[in-house]
Amino acid sequence: MLDKILIANRGEIALRVLRACREMGIRTVAVHSTADRDQQHVLLADETVCIGPPRSTDSYLNMPAIISAAEVTDARAIHPGYGFLSENADFAERVERSGFIFIGPRAETIRLMGDKVSAIRAMKEAGVPCVPGSGGPLGDRDKENLRLAEDIGFPIIIKAAAGGGGRGMRVVHERGDLLEAIDLTRSEAQSGFGDATVYMERYLQNPRHVEVQVLADQHGHAIHLGERDCSMQRRHQKVIEEAPAPGISEEQRQHIGAICTQACQRINYRGAGTFEFLYEDGEFFFIEMNTRVQVEHPVTEMITGVDIVKEQIRIAAGEELRYRQEDIVVRGHAVECRINAENPRTFVPSPGHISHYHAPGGPGIRVDSHLYSGYSVPPYYDSLVCKLIAHGENRESALNRMHTALGELVVEGIQTNGALHQDLVMDEAFRAGGTNIHYLEQKLKS
Ligand code: ADP
Repeated sequence: MLDKILIANRGEIALRVLRACREMGIRTVAVHSTADRDQQHVLLADETVCIGPPRSTDSYLNMPAIISAAEVTDARAIHPGYGFLSENADFAERVERSGFIFIGPRAETIRLMGDKVSAIRAMKEAGVPCVPGSGGPLGDRDKENLRLAEDIGFPIIIKAAAGGGGRGMRVVHERGDLLEAIDLTRSEAQSGFGDATVYMERYLQNPRHVEVQVLADQHGHAIHLGERDCSMQRRHQKVIEEAPAPGISEEQRQHIGAICTQACQRINYRGAGTFEFLYEDGEFFFIEMNTRVQVEHPVTEMITGVDIVKEQIRIAAGEELRYRQEDIVVRGHAVECRINAENPRTFVPSPGHISHYHAPGGPGIRVDSHLYSGYSVPPYYDSLVCKLIAHGENRESALNRMHTALGELVVEGIQTNGALHQDLVMDEAFRAGGTNIHYLEQKLKS
């Protein structure tokens, strides 16, 4: 087993990884910016290294500083968490070239999946159903692009091959707007991601976002842990996630799950990963694969009992998967609310000093958060400060537990979106199950 892991992240996920290491008897190295000295995982880690000033580009994205930290502390492996360098193929390559284990897929897999055009191509070849689209990058021949769009059928969506975080996408409803939309998305993609490649897909009107969690070891075994529904989104960003997805039958789960595990074997996948699909009228359409642990992984852990972070570590250490597909049984239902430090009406980030923090508890409640009374949320990073997870014997019981937990949660000194979550978990349409990806934005407008 690995004896020491460097955690190249911050916030709740750094603490989550640290806890997994502790349980496994693995020593930890926390790297942090000058703004993060008081992070809970930094206070708890066996060793700490300050890697730079607050700006992410100078610290959490600073590859040489992170690799030097691994060298001076003699770490064996690096866990990248999510965000930051977790899906950076160059980083994975540099980590391995420097003699450390990257806790994630091979650099070539990250590269293949990081470019959505090549990802879609590879998935199509592996038999994964994809959204009807251009099937490749758009060229600069206007006539050709217009013909492609007409073949696909309006509305269509133009997407940046290198896009992420809900950015680099534009919906086009009419033929007359197509060429300008392509140009705009191209230039945004170039400035935002350093890659002007764009492609085209049919814009599904009322889909849900349903994704499949997989685990694959280095010995050719792959399993799936069922699906999650992450349709409650604002600006293409997930707000509430749940598992299993409402209305998906066991037969559908095993069918799409098997397609994903076969695709993993085909591309020689390693580690934890997520196949993201849009789900409409009973059909799944692949949109992208995330080659890292997801923010919403806890809901899957709650219903399957599998510790995804520990499995990532075991896989990286070269162990064989300890589960066969038939060992994975879905028990009950779990929901996660992302509590952000933000104004509940304007969604403007609300960093600052936490004068009082109280975490909820009780049966089925899990809190993944780095907050504590006296901690200051710095203004430089993502506004996610707490993930509240509720597990129950069924969906209704999970939602009732979540409602109770939200009522107990106290975060004073900053603003949070807690009240929005209170409202959402009691929302009639959401309670009924199966609301689509536009539901939240429509509700916020009304
Ligand atoms: P990112 O990598 O930025 O998260 P994704 O490709 O995963 O981008 O898409 C994010 C979200 O954008 C989806 O969950 C969905 O809400 C919306 N979206 C993406 N592609 C389509 C499409 N073809 N039709 C409708 N909505 C889409």
